[in-house]
Amino acid sequence: MKLIAAFVAAIALFGAVATTRNRPPDDPIALAYQALIAKDLRLATVGYHLAQGSAAYCRNTWRNPGWVLHDERQYPDLALAHRAFTFRKPVSIAALVTGGPAARAGLQPGDGLTAADGSVVWYDPAAKDQRPTSGRIDGLRETIAMRLSEGRPIRFGIATANGHRDLILDPPAVCASDFWVDVRSKRDAGADGKRVRVTSGLIDYVRDDDELAAVVAHEMAHNLLDHRPRIEASKSGKTKVIKATEAEADRLSVWLMANAGYDPEAAISFWQRYGKATGLGIFSAPTHYRWQTRVAMLREEIDLMSRSPAGDDRRDPPLLAAHRAKQ
Ligand SMILES: [Zn+2]
Repeated sequence: MKLIAAFVAAIALFGAVATTRNRPPDDPIALAYQALIAKDLRLATVGYHLAQGSAAYCRNTWRNPGWVLHDERQYPDLALAHRAFTFRKPVSIAALVTGGPAARAGLQPGDGLTAADGSVVWYDPAAKDQRPTSGRIDGLRETIAMRLSEGRPIRFGIATANGHRDLILDPPAVCASDFWVDVRSKRDAGADGKRVRVTSGLIDYVRDDDELAAVVAHEMAHNLLDHRPRIEASKSGKTKVIKATEAEADRLSVWLMANAGYDPEAAISFWQRYGKATGLGIFSAPTHYRWQTRVAMLREEIDLMSRSPAGDDRRDPPLLAAHRAKQ
């Protein structure tokens, strides 16, 4: 229940941010729920653009439907969740990435999942009285991600405003990584090999989507270059290996940003500001470069990028080319 407590604490900090919902609730907690989904969508959108922009160059790919799913039971207060959102089923679409596969298929926020790839999305009405949990939505996300990574179309049963719909989703392959908002206020981000995590506090801290793209691209780069298994496989000198992977993530990040139409200069402005504000912390660790060094490396990489040929305004990042060449 620790997570739920953290969630309640975190939503209290969000404040009332207007969202795209057309039914503004009067309750501050319901508004905070909407603000959280607005962040989820912002991260999902930036992540989707980064993944799509370099799709042709990534060895590690998966298929992203471009939706944010949520479960009414992930919210501490079920009644307020229903005031904040439309749930046509207990697990429903919270938001859609504009122009993404799910949006192009005509799905709408509020549409509910009844089945995914032949299995019924579990729902027990008697469980409504139980304590809030994110277990069901986490399990479902994992199942969908696994099936998407197998590279075949997935059949969904969807409850829409106009009745039941059978839908086959077959999203194109894009660079790997799923994205999720960690509700803590601490400014932090991470990558676990498959997913990219950005805290709510860091999303509040970035100036714009270009700066958010700098953070997400750095973390995604760790996943795309298989840094985690590389660090785990290193027998000795882990500090040196981690430092090398940090430099690679910085270098690749600006190419991913440029290929997705984000301004790579935002990586410099973000790391400068964040580095100065953070002072010591992780920047003093032997596994990480000092921020001044990172900024100099980013400048070098942006210069290198501007000198390399672009097709369709996109460039093959040298680190991804080297990764593709590996067995
Ligand atoms: Zn890193």
